[in-house]
Amino acid sequence: MTRKSLLMVGAGLSGAVLARELAQAGHRVTVLDARDHVAGNCHTQRDPDTGVLVHVYGPHIFHTDDQQVWDYVNRFGRFRPYTHRVKTTSGGRVYTMPMNLHTINQFFDMALSPQEARALVAAKAQTLPEPPRNFEEQALSMLGADLYEAFFKGYTAKQWGCDPTALPAAILKRLPLRFSYDDNYFFHRYQGMPEDGYTPIVAAMLDHPAITVSLNTRFTKDMARGFDHVFYSGPLDSWFGQDSGALGYRTLDFERLTHDGDYQGCAVMNYADAAIPHTRITEHKYFAPWEEHARSVCYREVSRACETEDIPYYPIRLAEDKSLLSDYIRRARKETGVTFVGRLGTYRYLDMDVTIREALDCAAMFRDHAAHDQTM
Ligand code: UDP
Repeated sequence: MTRKSLLMVGAGLSGAVLARELAQAGHRVTVLDARDHVAGNCHTQRDPDTGVLVHVYGPHIFHTDDQQVWDYVNRFGRFRPYTHRVKTTSGGRVYTMPMNLHTINQFFDMALSPQEARALVAAKAQTLPEPPRNFEEQALSMLGADLYEAFFKGYTAKQWGCDPTALPAAILKRLPLRFSYDDNYFFHRYQGMPEDGYTPIVAAMLDHPAITVSLNTRFTKDMARGFDHVFYSGPLDSWFGQDSGALGYRTLDFERLTHDGDYQGCAVMNYADAAIPHTRITEHKYFAPWEEHARSVCYREVSRACETEDIPYYPIRLAEDKSLLSDYIRRARKETGVTFVGRLGTYRYLDMDVTIREALDCAAMFRDHAAHDQTM
């Protein structure tokens, strides 16, 4: 195998895993990131006032069914057991999420058994043409109007900035509906939080003699000159200078608040009502429940349309984004010497474990290819 000189644009999870795997395979890797830290949007840092470990770009909970991915992240740092539980405030009352038997009993003020609750929800569910054409139809055919309006309609309109009839049904399928009292937000075999946050884990991945990291370095295409291959985890449309138009994203504004003692008593409180501008408040000490802090730091999250200088968080993937996306994907396939990776590079709503799985697979493909390619 010939040793190649590789450029990794972005020091988030995709960039770090690819850099590590390819450095270990014998290549030389330069990693660039525009920010002053590694770890992309899963970056964590200690809050200077309270000492709480903060998920700077919003909460990231690690959960996976993928044994290899779980073993992989555990090689770079210690994970502590963590179970994500979410509460939601609707109509001035607090309920448990994701929707489970407790939520149903609280909401209808009843004491139903699993079977009775199933029958009640089935009776409320609307019969609509199959398959559901959008988020609202999916919710109405699963839950009926009462539960949909109390817990999903307002939250979803705030989160995505559009009517739920304009959104794909798949967004709701991320959330379970349970007829038991299990309120674990995720149903994966492994779930945990890195004891010292995600940033040291990503830094440990990048800590290899064949990897050079340049922070505060905004990528421009001329920087690719001299490298054998580029892995690009920046926004797909930015690679093309957004010349066919900008892909739609939602961005988040975080309003910080500190408090003596506890503020809300849980990691995440959603706000389901449309009249309340924020979607949720996160209390970060609860993401590290093994730590003790006298003071608390919380962030109120407001979602809005992403402008040029904002941080893109959620790819919207409405109809107009999808046709623009197909256009960019078609052009991306024709590009040589570059692979588009990760959430922004592929314009998808990716969980961390999927991001790592795809980066591992991408590195394996590149290694195989490089092993057979004697020409470079
Ligand atoms: N959702 C909602 N009410 C809630 C929680 C979620 O309406 O209390 C909807 C919302 O549209 C959200 C989707 O369900 O985008 C998926 O929820 P998830 O928690 O997976 O969203 P995340 O914040 O992880 O993207």
